[in-house]
Order: sequence, then C-alpha cells, then structure tokens
Amino acid sequence: MGPNAATDAGTADRTAPRLALDSLAVHAGRDDLTAAGVHAPPLDLSTTNPLPSVDAGGEAYEAMATGGHPTAGGHVYARLWNPTVARFEAGLAALEHTEESVAFASGMAAVTATVLATQAESGGRHVVAVRPLYGGTDHLLGSGLLGTETTYCSADDVAATVRPDTCLVVVETPANPTLDLVDIAAVVRAAAGRPVLVDNTFATPVLQNPADHGATFVLHSATKYLGGHGDAVGGVVATDAAWAAALRRVRAVTGGIMHPLAGYLLHRGLPTLPVRVRAQQQSAEKMAGWLAEHPAVTQVFYPGLPGTDPTGLLGRQLRGPGAMVTIRLAGGYDAASRTAERVRLFTHAVSLGGVDSLVQHPAALTHRPVPADARPGADLLRLSIGLEDPADLQADLAQALAVEGPR
Ligand SMILES: *Cc1c(COP(=O)(O)O)cnc(C)c1O
Repeated sequence: MGPNAATDAGTADRTAPRLALDSLAVHAGRDDLTAAGVHAPPLDLSTTNPLPSVDAGGEAYEAMATGGHPTAGGHVYARLWNPTVARFEAGLAALEHTEESVAFASGMAAVTATVLATQAESGGRHVVAVRPLYGGTDHLLGSGLLGTETTYCSADDVAATVRPDTCLVVVETPANPTLDLVDIAAVVRAAAGRPVLVDNTFATPVLQNPADHGATFVLHSATKYLGGHGDAVGGVVATDAAWAAALRRVRAVTGGIMHPLAGYLLHRGLPTLPVRVRAQQQSAEKMAGWLAEHPAVTQVFYPGLPGTDPTGLLGRQLRGPGAMVTIRLAGGYDAASRTAERVRLFTHAVSLGGVDSLVQHPAALTHRPVPADARPGADLLRLSIGLEDPADLQADLAQALAVEGPR
C-alpha cells in the first residue's frame, strides 16, 4: 500500500451509480479502506511524510501547492494534504452532488478562502451579499479585511447589484437567524455567470443540494450539523474539480487547514446525519407548532408556517423545514434574556445543529457584529432543536417562558 492509496478517497467516483442519501452517508469517502485492510477510517496525525526521492517529493509538492492531488511523491506535508481529511471531503462531496470538496479550519476560514479564490480567478474585488447572513460572514465581508468591496442587498436585487467586477455572490438559505428562504436558481440566473456561494449549514445535504440548482460553491460550517456532537470545528466547500483546486491552492498558501482529528470526527458524523436531521426536524415541527400558540410568543420563524415561504421553495428546493426555530417574544429583550437564562434542558449557548438543544440571543451574540440597521431584533431568540424527547423540551421552554416563576 503506497502513500497515495488514500488519494483515491479524495475524488468522488463518477462512474459509480449514485446511491440513495442514507447509503451514501454511511459509505462515501471509505472507498480505500478495504484495500488498506481496515474497517474504520484511520486517523493520520502525521505533520510530515517520508519522501521516496527528491524528484518525486518535489513533484508532489508542486502538484499540491498549486491545488492538485498528491502524486507518487506522497503527501509531503500536512498543510498540503491529509488522507483523513480527504476522506471526509470525498464523503461530503458525494452528499452534495459535487465533484470534490475542500475542508478548512472553520466555516469562516472556508468563506475567507472562497472569497480569496474568486478574487484571484476573476481579478474583481466586488462581492454581492444577500442579507440576512450569519453575523460572522456579514462582518467579514463588510470589514474590508480581505480587500473586498461588498454590497448588501435582498435576493430580488441581485441582478441590479452585480457589476462587471463582481467576483462572488453570497447567499444563505435558510438564513441565520430568521430562516428566510432564498430561491437559489433565481439568484444563479441573476448572477449572470458569476460564481454563487450558498451557505447550506442550516439545511444540510439531507434537506437541500444547492449545486443541483446551479450554485458554484456549497459551504458548510461543519461545526454544526455535519459534526453534530459539538466537539469539532470545521468548514467545508463542495464544488467542481477546477474550483476545488483553486480553493486548495489558497488553503495551502494561507494555511487554514482542518485538523485531522476534526476531519475524523466530521467524517464519523456523516453516517448518522440523515437520521439526526430527520429526527431533530420532527421535534422542531412539534415545537414550532406549539410555540406559535404560546401567549408569550409574538412570531415564530420556521419554514412551512404560514407566511414563511411565499414562493413555494419548501418541497421544490428545500426538502424539509429543518430543526432551527426562531421566535420573537411579547416581553421584548427582558423576556428573551430571561428565557435564555432560565432554561435547564436546553443549554444557553451559541452554535447549533448538535444532538443537544441550544438557545441563544442573536442580537447580543452571533449577530452582534452586524450593523444595527440589519441586526436581528432584541426580542428574538434562536433555538436549535436536538434529539431530546420533544415533550421534555416543551416542558423546559414552558417554565422558561412563564412570566411568573423562580429565576
Ligand atoms: C456558524 C456559522 C458559520 C461560521 O462557521 P464557523 O465554523 O463558526 O467558523 C457560517 N455560516 C453559518 C450559517 C453558521 O451558522
């Protein structure tokens, strides 16, 4: 077994018939295991690798530093290639129906690399960003740190906002935190050939495949549903082979690599992703329906509830409403902060998508860096519904939402 055996895991086998989602989730990215004589993917923590010869090592270095796959010289150095991470990448690419995917240290490192790669390819520095977006993405694009000039707009205004120097259009659907749905195919048409990035963190490939609707880049904060257990930080971008090479080049040069242990844990999360998402979604549907009737709640944001899906994307683009529920409280900020601080089964914490339920206040936390005019309201709380029994979750929220009661 040569040093390149795992290389095959880095590319989806396009000749294989496409399995159903649940089968792919279990098996994708594991094609090389039988030949290696192992059943569980090995965790390779090597920072460097023995070189067969100066020439072969140099050739492999050159190939990977410019975004290619390893050659006979092997993996050379962990900033260029890691076989454990490459298996996770192959698995995620299969689930997102793309040729390849490229993993990064975090979701924000993935956004950064995509902006840098599209700037380098097009020479343009203008980004069109459809709000609402995750607060960190909104902030990064507006900060000027990456040399971008960003225009924020609504999904309907993309066509009027793109310019000849637009290198990237960024959208999130369902969007963080109000779960706004954006018609991906319509944004792709409006972008008129410019690359479109869709942040698919909330939907996961279980509920939505943006590449099937024309998205160039499908981005995940893998920290959330993909890992699903709150113990690994990572980001990943699923795309075609040419853009994957451009992203790997940026990753090799800027160093925002995923740690192999994160790659291992995230790959381990994929087989259970479909059952987790479906079970969490089932509970979230119950919670959203119950919250919509609750006297302390003035509004529930959840795809599928009346008024949340004016263009009928649920069923056409999004296969299910998901497991994130956002609410507005009649008692404003005081009621929202009190509720977040009173929960006992939910954890008051940022992040989302794990097996345990979380609640957080977007305006104070995840969306704090967003300019005030685009920031979520102070009366708003975001719930990530986990795998607990929904009756227990309901009882916990009921006591936390109660106007009277012990603090
Ligand atoms: C958390 C999140 C990100 C950022 O990902 P990190 O892994 O925290 O860097 C990006 N987009 C969305 C929708 C998120 O929820």
